[in-house]
Amino acid sequence: MKAISVIGILSACLVGYTRAACGEAFAQCGGNNYDGEVCCVAGTECEYVNESYSQCNPVEDSSDDDKNEAIVDVDVTVENDEDSTEESDNENEKKPQLPKGTGIQYFEKCKNPKHWAMTYDDGPTEYADLMLDLFKKYDIKVTFFICGTCHINTKDPEFKRIIKRMYDEGHVIGNHTYNHLNLVDLTPDEIVNEMKLVEDPIYEIIGKRPAFVRLPFGSGASEEKVMNTLESLGYHAAINWNVDTMDWDNTGSIDYSNKVITEKLGQPLITLNHLAFDGVTKENIAALAEFEIQYILSQGYTPVTMDECLGIQAYQ
Ligand SMILES: [Zn+2]
Repeated sequence: MKAISVIGILSACLVGYTRAACGEAFAQCGGNNYDGEVCCVAGTECEYVNESYSQCNPVEDSSDDDKNEAIVDVDVTVENDEDSTEESDNENEKKPQLPKGTGIQYFEKCKNPKHWAMTYDDGPTEYADLMLDLFKKYDIKVTFFICGTCHINTKDPEFKRIIKRMYDEGHVIGNHTYNHLNLVDLTPDEIVNEMKLVEDPIYEIIGKRPAFVRLPFGSGASEEKVMNTLESLGYHAAINWNVDTMDWDNTGSIDYSNKVITEKLGQPLITLNHLAFDGVTKENIAALAEFEIQYILSQGYTPVTMDECLGIQAYQ
């Protein structure tokens, strides 16, 4: 990637914006429709990623390991005895505060080439607890994109229990709509409804409104109607993936996942999985997840939730 001088963007966004500091490493610092800080903290510089995104990247030469968190150091210890460390009832509270997004943008990969965001769609389902136990065992935090009617309905008491457990255990909660319809086919009012019917119950449970959406079928990111409506609701990111396990279509085939992950090694990863799929069993959903975790960690990736993957807050 080549550095750009963000002159064009500068003029557009110096208006009335005074935040305390410039962007931290891996934070956004420019791009179409971006009106936040266009500068980066010392040791990082604003680099062009694509037309809608420029990012504060560490300056490469004088690298006396900048103290910017564990983003670069892979320290994924698979041993976990989190018992003695003072009962934290909510792991999410311990997360560093990231800047909010501006407008809504589309993403399909993380910023840091060594970051991996594992994502699960269509939950909650009856397999949620099994998977949460597994993530706890590996100390992996994932991002769940929640659907209102796919499996366990928002009105089911289990919905509340599972979402709360996900959140309390440090996972990120995003919106995957109520009825899992293609938003391209809906009116703006219908899109609002699809989002609110999931967002409101989530707010009642965790006290926060998601800023991330996963579009059903990954469809609609290029449609102004869809994106403008989502933006008007306060969403900051429409997030697809760059590794599709196709678990819904191949009974969670590990061979297939092995192939598609291997093809993308070296890039930042967002893997797409589902909390239930055709032919799912406790054994095959867990086996696929364990394969992904072990394989991707063995390649030196740091597992992150979507907020850290993108450098923006997960909630509005
Ligand atoms: Zn889905």
